[in-house]
Amino acid sequence: MKKSIAVLTSGGDAPGMNAAIRAVVRTGLKNGWDVYGVRNGYRGLINGQFDRMSSRDVGGILQRGGTILGSARCPEFTTVEGRTVAIRNLNRLGIEALVVIGGNGSQAGAHELYKMGFPVVGVASTIDNDLAGTEITIGVDTALNIALEAIDRLKVTASSHQRAFIIEVMGRKCGYLALTAGLAGGAEAITLPEHETDPEEIAEALSLAYAHGKNHALIVAAEGADYNAAKLTEFFKEHRDRLGFSVRSTILGHVQRGGEPGAADRILASKLGCGAVQAIAREEYGVLIGLINNKVTATPYDDMVGKVKELDEELFELARLLD
Ligand code: ADP
Repeated sequence: MKKSIAVLTSGGDAPGMNAAIRAVVRTGLKNGWDVYGVRNGYRGLINGQFDRMSSRDVGGILQRGGTILGSARCPEFTTVEGRTVAIRNLNRLGIEALVVIGGNGSQAGAHELYKMGFPVVGVASTIDNDLAGTEITIGVDTALNIALEAIDRLKVTASSHQRAFIIEVMGRKCGYLALTAGLAGGAEAITLPEHETDPEEIAEALSLAYAHGKNHALIVAAEGADYNAAKLTEFFKEHRDRLGFSVRSTILGHVQRGGEPGAADRILASKLGCGAVQAIAREEYGVLIGLINNKVTATPYDDMVGKVKELDEELFELARLLD
């Protein structure tokens, strides 16, 4: 049956969003449907920024970071009035279903729209990997590789100067990026939002590493941890004498978001984008399309919105074992 659908990207951009847009547009068109792209996330939904998409419109974007549709944060959408205008705009064009590519906040917004009666399907995309209902999100693998490249480089300069480097990575309240960057980068210590940090223990680990003749030390700090880069630096300032190393800190920030998507994110985004269109074809709405046990899975919003994603404690133990 012919359908009309729309797709938007919302919240923080993530490498691979374009690959997901491409998959939604091309799978939709192959089904014989009309596909609209919405500019600038929920803001475009409210302002009526819709464009009919052709297969060519999504040509050459698979390998590009960011999002060709644009993204935005839109406080108006958090109100019933704002969402009512959005639904009116969608209905005016005869659009029967909306695909929302984005993170936690965006999916919470999509859930609200769904509860007001509009058919929505979400696609899990954020470099924070903080969405329940999926093991991995679009963008996190590329962000991890960017963080790793920075860590490897900082290790080289740290070794030359007998320094300890604190490297702060993104992830909001989720420690996934810090944990995996710390494990893959061989960090001496990792601070995470999910665990309480004992800075004394980290200071001890550094002075021990120094005493054993290590010529560098690395601490990966999550931005949302109790001890982020600023707080750790402050603590170490007071304990400079016992550390051995001199300490420097680097906040990676938005540089982690801007890269071109790697193979893993392009493939994941293609799978999830196609999975969203298949859910619409089944008329299965109010779900997040993610990956569970390596299978594209639709999880009802009711089961994942507002839930906290658990940290992989085994991975944390492994990182501690190898530090
Ligand atoms: P992300 O999707 O990357 O987590 P945000 O948290 O900034 O990004 O959310 C993106 C947008 O989603 C917000 O600007 C807002 O328009 C919408 N949004 C977030 N939370 C809600 C909510 N509880 N209800 C309705 N809309 C929401």
